[in-house]
Amino acid sequence: GISVSGLTKVFGTTTVLKDISIDIAPGERVVVIGPSGTGKSTLLRCLNFLDRPDSGTIRVGDLRIDAKTASGADILALRRRTSFVFQNYALFANKTARENISQALITVKSLSRSEANARADAILRETGLADKADVYPAALSGGQQQRVGIGRAMALDAELMLFDEPTSALDPEWVGEVLDLMRRVAEERQTMLIVTHEMQFAREIADRIIFMADGHIVEQGPPAQLLDLPQDDRTKAFLRRVG
Ligand code: ATP
Ligand code: MG
Repeated sequence: GISVSGLTKVFGTTTVLKDISIDIAPGERVVVIGPSGTGKSTLLRCLNFLDRPDSGTIRVGDLRIDAKTASGADILALRRRTSFVFQNYALFANKTARENISQALITVKSLSRSEANARADAILRETGLADKADVYPAALSGGQQQRVGIGRAMALDAELMLFDEPTSALDPEWVGEVLDLMRRVAEERQTMLIVTHEMQFAREIADRIIFMADGHIVEQGPPAQLLDLPQDDRTKAFLRRVG
C-alpha cells in the first residue's frame, strides 16, 4: 500500500499543504474533493515529485522516500510506482498515440522501443483506440486524447494511479467515455487517488472520499458517510455548492 506522512509544501510565503498524512490500502480507490486553491493538485503533484514537497515521507510498497533527502534515483523509482493523469492530457503533440504511450515506457520503465510499442498497442486495444495508434493528438477528440493519457498511465502498471480532474477540461460530450474507462480501471482494483468534481462518479467508485480545505484534510469516509452525513461545516457548505 501507500503511506504518506507529514507532507508539507510551501510556495513563497504560503503553506499550501499542511502536514498531510494519508494511508491507502492496495486496491483502494480514494477520491479527493475540496474548494479551488485548497491544495488538491499540489498534493497529487507532490506524490509524484512533479512538485517537490518540503517535508514528509512517502512510502509506496517497499520504497520509502524522505522529501528532504530524496535523490534523483529515489524520484525515478517513485515515478515507476506512481503514474499521473493530467487535466489537460499533457500528450506530446509531435508524437502519435502509440508513441505517447511507448515513450513513457522507454523513459520511465527503460523498455526497448519494440517492447514499448508492443505494450502500447495492447493498451490501445484495451482502451478502444487500436485504430488511432498512428494518429497525432490534434486529430483526436478530447475524449480520445484523455483515453490516451489514461492508457499511458495504465501502461506503467504503477502501484498508485493519480488522476487530477481528468474530465474537467473535456467538452461534456466526451466526459462519459473517460469516466467509463476510469470505471474499468477501478474494477481491476487498481489503487487510485482521484481529484474530481464528478460527485456521482465518486459515489459509485470511491471506497473513501477525502474532503480537503486550506491545505488540510478536514474529514474523510466512505461516500455514504462523507456525502450524506458530513460533519464539518466546511464540508457541508462545499457539498451544498457542488450540489
Ligand atoms: P483547483 O480546484 O482550482 O484545481 P487545487 O485545490 O488543485 O485547486 P492547487 O492548484 O493545489 O489547488 O493550489 C493550491 C495553492 O497553491 C493555490 O493558492 C495556488 O495558487 C498555489 N500554487 C499552486 N502551484 C503553485 C506554484 N507553482 N507556484 C506558486 N503557487 C502555487
Ligand atoms: Mg487543481
